[in-house]
Amino acid sequence: MRSRLIAGAALLVLAFLPWIPGIPAFWITQMNYIGLYSLVVLGLVLLTGVGGLTSFGQSAFVGLGAYSTAWLTTAVGVSPWLGLLAGLLLTCLVAYGLGLITLRLSGHYLPLCTLAWCLALYYLYGNLDFLGRYDGIAGIPPISLGDWSLGASESMYVLIWLALLLALWATHNLLDSRSGRAIRALRSGAMAESFGVDLAHYKVVIFVYAALLGSVSGWLYAHMQRAVSPSPFGLGYGIEYLFMAVVGGAGSVWGAVVGAATILLVKDQLQNVLPKLVGTGINLDLLVFGVLMILVLQFARDGLWPWLARLGHWLGGGPDTQAQKAVRNAAPAADLPRRALPAAGSLVLEVDQVRKEFGGLVAVNDISFSLRAGEIMGLIGPNGAGKSTTFNLISGVLALSAGQVRFMGERIDGQSAHEIARRGLVRSFQHVQLLPDMTVLDNVALGAHLRSQAGVMSAALRLDRASEASLMQEAARQLQRVGLGDVMDRPAGSLPLGRQRIVEIARALCGDPILLLLDEPAAGLRFQEKQALATVLDQLRQEGMSLLLVEHDMDFVMKLTDHLLVMDFGTRLAEGIPADIRHDPAVLEAYLGGVDEDWDVSAAAQTPPPADSAIQQKAHS
Ligand code: ADP
Ligand code: MG
Repeated sequence: MRSRLIAGAALLVLAFLPWIPGIPAFWITQMNYIGLYSLVVLGLVLLTGVGGLTSFGQSAFVGLGAYSTAWLTTAVGVSPWLGLLAGLLLTCLVAYGLGLITLRLSGHYLPLCTLAWCLALYYLYGNLDFLGRYDGIAGIPPISLGDWSLGASESMYVLIWLALLLALWATHNLLDSRSGRAIRALRSGAMAESFGVDLAHYKVVIFVYAALLGSVSGWLYAHMQRAVSPSPFGLGYGIEYLFMAVVGGAGSVWGAVVGAATILLVKDQLQNVLPKLVGTGINLDLLVFGVLMILVLQFARDGLWPWLARLGHWLGGGPDTQAQKAVRNAAPAADLPRRALPAAGSLVLEVDQVRKEFGGLVAVNDISFSLRAGEIMGLIGPNGAGKSTTFNLISGVLALSAGQVRFMGERIDGQSAHEIARRGLVRSFQHVQLLPDMTVLDNVALGAHLRSQAGVMSAALRLDRASEASLMQEAARQLQRVGLGDVMDRPAGSLPLGRQRIVEIARALCGDPILLLLDEPAAGLRFQEKQALATVLDQLRQEGMSLLLVEHDMDFVMKLTDHLLVMDFGTRLAEGIPADIRHDPAVLEAYLGGVDEDWDVSAAAQTPPPADSAIQQKAHS
């Protein structure tokens, strides 16, 4: 309530700022520039801060927006609004094309490419005769609404900040949606793909989105200045925009505004104050600016916004996400559609002579097995046996060297991870892969990505609330099922590792799997937690789900599974029901072969170890 009042008051001041008596005109000009920069930086927050794609080239898109409208309104004489439309269209096409080509690149190739296109477009603006070469285009008309001209600084202020607030609202909405979770998961790569997130699609989407924001900023700039020339669209500005995003806090939409304002005001003040201190003879402002930036990056790695937000909480704002409460209080949403599970006993997974070589190492050596509906199968073996690699081959994270995998009678080897997920084969990872800063509830909802179609547009305009409510309800239900209903609101990274694994299981269950692959789900759990997990898995089996389990806790495996495959050095050692595997001489040999280093000799001498615990001991080594 209080925070709403404060926000309301701030908005009111913001809206009437130019008309408050005593406000210098210079402030309004500064506010206009802050607004223009913030628009571009907001795109970078999404692209770089959230999506992890670094771009030095945003200023080139600002230029596209500015030059499109500049040329169209002066040479052709169309309305600035048409200029906006044309600029957006052109930016969309160029960004889409550039995105398709450059976003495939990884590591520092992408930032290098952004440098290249920024330079290329800059020189293009400067060398085209019809764009006035380096002199640019002058005489651009003001934007008008009917007869009402928005040429004055105050009117531009209103327009710029309206555009910025709208963009902030849309971007905030986008991040708080199905698409937003996918975008936030982009950095995790294989994990997101395993829940059906089409990484390439979302990369292009945020790239185009950021470019469009730049283009709008360019349009506003051109009509504010009434003239354009290449210099504000060069590499220097491209780097500065990125700087603003980093300084403001590239993980939050408000970081864009904070970053743009901070850099603009600090630079301005340095130019004012330094000459008074050291005289006008030397230009120290860039040097001091550089030092200040290094200090910010040293002491506020995540930028200034998180720091300001903490201050805000401390002053009584309170946490702004109340997912748990929201879900509890929400009216029941429509249930998500569920997949029909195959009849018990029918073939679900057939792994046929599957092989994976890493250079000279054969990690998985012609492994074959099959799994039937309603069955829990265990895959066991010492560390390095090739179990996780087998999972990666089945789920499409790694490409097979040879062999076939069939799921529900159809071949899935060679398909991408998200196509396989779409078919109902969902997995967890041996090394926990949650997004630590996102809430547990959001993390789990990512698992249901494929069960809703809500797109980027409907998210940005907040037309996705019904579908979002269904997703959240499902995520909450799965969390309650695995006993984590009380921690939905917590950042996933704040849970102990064992519980994070359970979050992963809830997330996988959100995918409505036919077959669930769990890689060491019980690692790091306490005894009671393991028992609770076993109960959940057993219940899933009774509901007709099939499970493939890698687990080192032999007690857990022996009690729970219907059927076991033992691997060692990539090859199949034994297969059968737990009772037989327990006494299989080859298995005992594999597990106890190198006993001397890690076996507790004194304990072994007193009582010959039962086979189970011997296996367990070796497996843990
Ligand atoms: P497990 O899960 O049974 O402990 P893994 O499947 O993780 O075993 O690993 C099997 C073998 O393959 C190990 O020797 C491991 O070092 C090797 N390996 C796994 N992934 C890779 C990789 N990406 N590149 C090279 N070698 C790998
Ligand atoms: Mg493993």
